[in-house]
Amino acid sequence: CGIVGYIGHREAYPIVIKGLQRLEYRGYDSAGIALYDGTGIKLSKTKGKVSDLKERLEKEITTNGSLGIGHTRWATHGIPNDINSHPHYSNSGDLVIIHNGIIENYDALKQELIKRGYKFKSETDTEVLVNLIEDVKKNENIKLGKAVQIALNQVVGAYAIAVFDKNKPNEIVVAKLGSPLAIGIGDDEFFIASDASPFIEFTKNAIYLEDEEMAIIRRGKEIKVRKIKSDALV
Ligand code: GLU
Repeated sequence: CGIVGYIGHREAYPIVIKGLQRLEYRGYDSAGIALYDGTGIKLSKTKGKVSDLKERLEKEITTNGSLGIGHTRWATHGIPNDINSHPHYSNSGDLVIIHNGIIENYDALKQELIKRGYKFKSETDTEVLVNLIEDVKKNENIKLGKAVQIALNQVVGAYAIAVFDKNKPNEIVVAKLGSPLAIGIGDDEFFIASDASPFIEFTKNAIYLEDEEMAIIRRGKEIKVRKIKSDALV
């Protein structure tokens, strides 16, 4: 039940894995990480402890990518197993998401998406959300931030999410309702976490998103914070 993310100039992996360990106290049954390694996404997830993930990853990870997200899961929809663990890909494989919370109307949204040809690998509400974002993004031909905003306006529930597009690896979009989400602002680098403990050693400058706020975080740019329900789309 924690999320971590990094986008900047350092290697993301050590920051994300250490951050997950600092969030272990929140309780969890599975853990996973997605890193952008310069050419694509490297994703690894497992039921069990962050230390199990670390052991597995340290054999597999050869990347020095500087964008990464990580998750500890407290299962609500679908049993704790490797497939239901986060991060989750969208159908195209372009988008990858982590999510804490519950999408209450996930089943109705899922049935709609199935009618439109979407397939689901996991039993999670989260995989529904990432495909809803993808569907909106494709249909409207809009940027990720705007697609997240439109998708979240169709969602009933609680969430802290972080999502990125492997074709736009200079940007992470985050949003919050009910679950906590802090953004650490460093020197040309940003940290995302459920609380400040994963990034306190790097920066004391943090903002805490309010409920129904989202943020577009771009490498080397100012953070844009927006109201999810506002008419002024991002
Ligand atoms: N509802 C999501 C799931 O079951 C997220 C759970 C969480 O907060 O970790 O996968």
